[in-house]
Amino acid sequence: MTESRFSRVALIGIGLIGSSLARVLRREKLADEIVACDRRQATLDTALQLDLADSVTADPAEAVAGADLVVIGTPLSAYAEIGQRIGAAVAAGTIVTDVGSVKAAVIRDLKPSLPAGVHLVPGHPVAGTEHSGPEAGFAELFQERWCILTPPADADPSAVERVMRLWQRAGMKVVTMDAEHHDKVLAITSHLPHLIAYTIVGTATDLEEMLKSEVIKFSAGGFRDFTRIAASDPVMWRDIFLNNREAVLEMLQRFSEDLTALQRAIRWGEGEKLEELFRRTRAIRRSIIEAKQA
Ligand code: NAP
Repeated sequence: MTESRFSRVALIGIGLIGSSLARVLRREKLADEIVACDRRQATLDTALQLDLADSVTADPAEAVAGADLVVIGTPLSAYAEIGQRIGAAVAAGTIVTDVGSVKAAVIRDLKPSLPAGVHLVPGHPVAGTEHSGPEAGFAELFQERWCILTPPADADPSAVERVMRLWQRAGMKVVTMDAEHHDKVLAITSHLPHLIAYTIVGTATDLEEMLKSEVIKFSAGGFRDFTRIAASDPVMWRDIFLNNREAVLEMLQRFSEDLTALQRAIRWGEGEKLEELFRRTRAIRRSIIEAKQA
């Protein structure tokens, strides 16, 4: 049977996702020792106060020394440098995984820095909130959600199995897929919706003063739901769009075409076209509720 316990887990980045995983490691007793690594001392102090780690360091190389599992949970723009800093310190046999929202770029940035014998198993727990930092995390975040692993073709099957088990213990349903496929799927299910939310909220922000206050007052009409999405971490989302450029631009192109078609339907009073689309989209909502992903 696959060993689910790790002796030393290095969590590089201890924000919302990293700290939620730390809480799972504690709850499930999956690590003999947890070391948290972050660039700011204040974050590290909080991690210790919340008992998310047994020790802390600002040095990624120190964190990964002797670790059998390394989990990168920083914004994507930090990956290349982290890879370079851990490259010489990470031992053969160690599993290196991550939680980043884009996958092909991660493999591109990390793989060259890791010595032979280190098992890279990129992952993406598709769960989150608009909050950030170690205080925002909670162990139940992952419950009943999907986790996508994108192991390279030559990945060690037992390393993949161990990462799979880890997320299952967090309550997740785990699938594996090709990194490029992951990036396309997430471009439509996550990245494009965020882009649209950022645009709508941005447009409202630019409105003249009087209208702006009314937008906030009457936000329950739909706008409010967009503001929650548009409150997500700016750095994280900057990195997602820059690292999943191709797939996002492709989905955006299709979206613009569909939007133009809707614009025409409204202009020409084609009510049946609008109604037909709204009926189809309502059915999608029902299937999401049935799949317990609402
Ligand atoms: P977060 O709460 O902002 O946490 C990120 C952590 O990384 C912070 O503690 C930050 O430190 C630290 N960090 C930043 N640059 C660093 C560096 N160079 N070296 C070490 N630590 C560094 O963000 P999050 O929501 O957990 O997201 C982390 C990753 O998970 C991202 O790659 C994101 O794409 C992915 N993800 C997010 C969600 C979501 O909904 N939030 C869902 C799935 C996956 P400071 O305290 O110093 O700022």
